[in-house]
Amino acid sequence: MKTLLSNAKVFTHGSFLETNVLIEDGVVFSLSDSIDVLAADPSVGVIDYSGKYIFPGFVDVHVHFREPGFLYKEDIATGSKAAAHGGYTHVFTMPNLNPVPDSIENMNEELKAIHEKACVKVYPYASITKGEKGEELVDFEEMTEYFELLDDGRTDDFEKKTHSGAIRLAGFSDDGTGVEGADHMEEAMTRVAALGGIISAHCEIKGILGGKNVHDGVLAKELGYRGISSESEWKMVERDIALSKETGCRYHVCHVSTKESVELIRNAKKEGVDITCETGPHYLLLNDEDVLAEVLKDKAADKSDNKTKYGLGRFKMNPPIRSEEDRKALIEGIKDGTVDMIATDHAPHSFEEKSKGFDGPMGVVGLECAFPVLYTGLVKTGVISLEKLIDLMSIKPSERFDVEHGIEVGMPADLTVFDLDEEYVIDPDTFASKGRFTPFDGRKVFGRCIATYVDGKTVF
Ligand SMILES: [Zn+2]
Repeated sequence: MKTLLSNAKVFTHGSFLETNVLIEDGVVFSLSDSIDVLAADPSVGVIDYSGKYIFPGFVDVHVHFREPGFLYKEDIATGSKAAAHGGYTHVFTMPNLNPVPDSIENMNEELKAIHEKACVKVYPYASITKGEKGEELVDFEEMTEYFELLDDGRTDDFEKKTHSGAIRLAGFSDDGTGVEGADHMEEAMTRVAALGGIISAHCEIKGILGGKNVHDGVLAKELGYRGISSESEWKMVERDIALSKETGCRYHVCHVSTKESVELIRNAKKEGVDITCETGPHYLLLNDEDVLAEVLKDKAADKSDNKTKYGLGRFKMNPPIRSEEDRKALIEGIKDGTVDMIATDHAPHSFEEKSKGFDGPMGVVGLECAFPVLYTGLVKTGVISLEKLIDLMSIKPSERFDVEHGIEVGMPADLTVFDLDEEYVIDPDTFASKGRFTPFDGRKVFGRCIATYVDGKTVF
């Protein structure tokens, strides 16, 4: 089966080219200006994408699909569908599950679900410590070898290739909580470095959080409690940079939210530390004054009529939305390359849980609105170019996490098609995800995903 995606502006080798993409047997067979001969071939299915944009599918190195363990919040089927709807072809799932994938036996539960239900390429993280309890390290060597066997197809446990590609290990992470013991982190980094793996760290020191629910700033003051300190994040980033330097471990910082972390990572890169980091759309586009305005609006609203359907829980995530100074530092970070990539930290919870507002659990959904909010907020406003946004959402994460990716001849046809002219309002009720709470609920945006292809097959 051959498919010709015709007349689109295609992102290839770092820039846009008006061309046609011929897909055959799941890979990009050719990129060509002339389509007359192909279009006349009855064995070629032609799809006209005039005026549309084709990007390499987005790669999100940080999502929570909640399976196994918490299927009422999300599962591999709904999570991967949400990814496809948002233009993502590759997602990396965090291990705060039940059971936690901290052994081959426990990991197999998640692998089975991925194998059976995923419509995009889903790569699971294993945890750093058993049960993410921070006490006992996992068997990094055994886990790594197991995935190498899977990838080489030398085991019968799973087929080498599924319709969604080979399942491989994303890396190691205790996301949801910080690895507090420096000795544990040092040993983890030493062993993971020897295996050539990567550690993705959620940096948070519980003892110096200082408060709860929101950033320690204007919003916390209004709500009448102490918020979460910035140092609870950057102090651990600082420690881990030193450990990465010492051990040579490939190290990635999850959801960077503070200006101090940005500066530490900038300096570490200058010193040659093998470090990368991600931030999320909400840290780049919102500050705690914006959230405060929403809180005041909510207070003023008539209790029954004008309240948003999804309440203030849509502004609660970990780490919290920080100050304008922090937001500006993150923007500088993406501009100068200190911040390598944008990940959503897609973290769905049930309606009941999130209805508790700032007292509910931390986490918001992001896969189905990340590109449009970033395109509208950063590209349309001239902060960064469209090419840069594709770099942050697709190219840089694939390079850092060794994903074979890009619209080039011979590469897997993992791509997404967007109409950048369409203007609409973000409506969580249209999401494929089970999660509905996003800080971008009701935001007017440009850019709608109209199709996503994985290995040349339409998944949305
Ligand atoms: Zn986290």
